[in-house]
Amino acid sequence: MSVLDSITRKVTDTAKAAAKISGSVVEVTKLNLSINVEEEKIKKIYTEIGKQLYEDYAEGKPVSEELLRKCIAIDEIIASIAEMKEKILELRNAKACPNCFTVLDMEMEYCYKCGRKQDEAQKEAEDGKDVQV
Ligand SMILES: [Zn+2]
Repeated sequence: MSVLDSITRKVTDTAKAAAKISGSVVEVTKLNLSINVEEEKIKKIYTEIGKQLYEDYAEGKPVSEELLRKCIAIDEIIASIAEMKEKILELRNAKACPNCFTVLDMEMEYCYKCGRKQDEAQKEAEDGKDVQV
């Protein structure tokens, strides 16, 4: 075997090995993607289970003490998100439609999404305040 033949053979072998490796890299990447997709499915189902549990809790159905604490934690988070949304509305000088919660400019008389007249809604809110005072 000539030196050139030997070199050529080595190069070919290396190229074949490289192709094999890159083939398995592609395969591994594909499998990892598939695993990610499957794991996302599990996460989605976990979320649905959790959501169902929270809905049961919100409807007053009994839940175990461990899960009850988690439901109360969700209540607190929902309240804090509501506070932050309220703050954003203040900062943007905007209001939320009381019917569909779409964010509207303060001067908008009608909700562009559900069509509810905003003045009436505000009056109702003000009346509500009067009753409380
Ligand atoms: Zn609306």
